[in-house]
Amino acid sequence: MGFKGYVIRPFDPWRSRLCTCPPKYSFDPYTGCEHGCLYCYASSYIKDFYSCRPKKDLLRKVRRDLSKIPANSLISMSNSSDPYTPMEARLKLTRRCLEEFAKYRIRLLVITKGALVSRDIDLLKRLRCAVTMTITTIDKDLSRRLEPRAPTPSTRLNALSTLSANGIPVGMRLDPIIPFLNDDRVEELLKEAKNVGVRHVVASTFKPRYDSWRRMVEEFPEEMRKLERLLKMGERIGRSWYLPREFRFKLMKEVAETCRRLGLTFACCREGFPQLHTAKTCDGSHLIEGFD
Ligand code: SF4
Repeated sequence: MGFKGYVIRPFDPWRSRLCTCPPKYSFDPYTGCEHGCLYCYASSYIKDFYSCRPKKDLLRKVRRDLSKIPANSLISMSNSSDPYTPMEARLKLTRRCLEEFAKYRIRLLVITKGALVSRDIDLLKRLRCAVTMTITTIDKDLSRRLEPRAPTPSTRLNALSTLSANGIPVGMRLDPIIPFLNDDRVEELLKEAKNVGVRHVVASTFKPRYDSWRRMVEEFPEEMRKLERLLKMGERIGRSWYLPREFRFKLMKEVAETCRRLGLTFACCREGFPQLHTAKTCDGSHLIEGFD
């Protein structure tokens, strides 16, 4: 089956040999994102990325694609944007997609920074789903500089708490960890996550591409000067710069160990260390009811 023109299509992160995700479909209701995260890599392959726009004729295409994919399919929403970007409050496009999803026997993994996700609890309860919220720091001021238009960390944690209290399984993406910037209060953040009901953590190190690096250097020149020295000892994989393997392993191992102590499962994203994973999936899709 070809997927040309489809809005729900097989997830294929550039056929990365480091990706350990289970087979799944990828779906983005919006093109681009309003949250404005400086480290975002999606801006390197989506034109006018920060001027977010709804996908054209979306609901018709969603209905068409849902009728073609097998029952029980896993859909990951979203990988290259955010389904709860600020304009969703007004447009309710993601919400209308959830209404369509609820007519099918699919499994849904929501990936977001938008606290607005808790608006849709009524629909999420009808779906087999899990929500993973990306939170990179507990520090409100740092978050404001790194992710200028995303909800504050405490707002995101509150949303997770509400979801969890309503029976929706929740995970957290600690992604990316940027040495010299947000790697110092990880334990504090993980404790908060545990307190609001998070069960699984996905972590990843910062892997800059040309444009995300430029934005980071502009905002954090001193820290990025230090980071640059480390990156020069690392390697280039695809279009991303990776920190040295031993450095990444040590960092991921520390997070994995903290998660173990707190009773959270752990996995890393595109790092190449599956030996550190303590859950059945890296992305948190095992949290969804009906995981096989
Ligand atoms: S929320 Fe996600 S997609 Fe949107 S700018 Fe931030 S990292 Fe990129």
